[in-house]
Amino acid sequence: MRPWEYNIRKVVPYTPGEQPKEAGVIKLNTNENPYPPSPGVVEKKENLEQLRLYSDPTAGELVRALAGYHGLDEDQVFVGVGSDDVLAMSFLTFFNSDKPILFPDITYSFYDVWADLFRIPYETRPLDTSFELNPSDYEAGNGGVIFPNPNAPTGLAAGLDVVRDVLEHNRDVIVIIDEAYIDFGGESALTLLQDYENLLVVRTFSKSRSLAGLRIGYAMGSTRLIKALNDVKYSYNSYTMNTPSIVLGVESVKDEAYFRDTIARVVRTREWFEQELTRLGFSYPRSSANFVFATHESVPAKEIFEAAKKEKIYVRYFDKPRIDNYLRITIGTDEDMRTLVSFLGKII
Ligand code: PMP
Repeated sequence: MRPWEYNIRKVVPYTPGEQPKEAGVIKLNTNENPYPPSPGVVEKKENLEQLRLYSDPTAGELVRALAGYHGLDEDQVFVGVGSDDVLAMSFLTFFNSDKPILFPDITYSFYDVWADLFRIPYETRPLDTSFELNPSDYEAGNGGVIFPNPNAPTGLAAGLDVVRDVLEHNRDVIVIIDEAYIDFGGESALTLLQDYENLLVVRTFSKSRSLAGLRIGYAMGSTRLIKALNDVKYSYNSYTMNTPSIVLGVESVKDEAYFRDTIARVVRTREWFEQELTRLGFSYPRSSANFVFATHESVPAKEIFEAAKKEKIYVRYFDKPRIDNYLRITIGTDEDMRTLVSFLGKII
């Protein structure tokens, strides 16, 4: 190592899912929505003259739209560049204790990366053999708690009783529920916001709103939490949200009918696909998300993953303890899923 290299902050980065460049790919590896964004978003003509100016540092229009949508006050909503940005900012803001933060051993694989980046001590708590989270694993003596609900990459939702139990035992630290997939199933913790000032609920436009490319995420919580997040944000980068994201994000929030319709389509396809997986000898935790986490009784997941890729069908495989015989398969269009099922039928 060069002497100056000792001063470099060393981290093992998160590995995002592949974004293949080749044509004709069936892309079921990063939980995007197979349907286009709402017609209002697609039609909105951007006023390019506006781009000469800095964007609104408060992203006020979008904050107002989201507050109205969820029946919250504007000072209870924080927006950021995808929920990854909101979550990273939340780690930096809220997890500032010498005690370890807690999250499940099988979960969103960015959590330990942020913890390492920000020098936050952490411990994982094993999910049980059915991938269920046991709330008694999260009792006191920690610097905060975070988990996704529904969980990723399992797709399994924890009941609101579990979330409430974790909150009851963690009144003195901040509890973050990452609801990236909540629109596809499960019970939101939003109803608990009025009872717990230390609860932060994080959402994204990337999955259920078909806007992964715009990069919009948001957090909801008490005014105290949102103020703390804004203080850190304005100490780091004031103009996180670009103008097109603010304007088009608002358009998306306006079209509730389209939003509900595309979610219902994804859920219908998921239910059909789960039946097909069962027929083919796969098992999986019942999904409440826009993906299914499946393992086969005899064919190794890695083999299926590699063979599928050769057929230009991309799914996600994690070479990690406990889950290295599973595939995480995003729900695509009916046609995508029929192609996948016929491929699986052949390989199995
Ligand atoms: N949380 C979870 C659980 C996720 O799976 C993802 C998607 N990778 C995110 C957050 C981040 O999504 P985005 O930054 O696109 O909002």
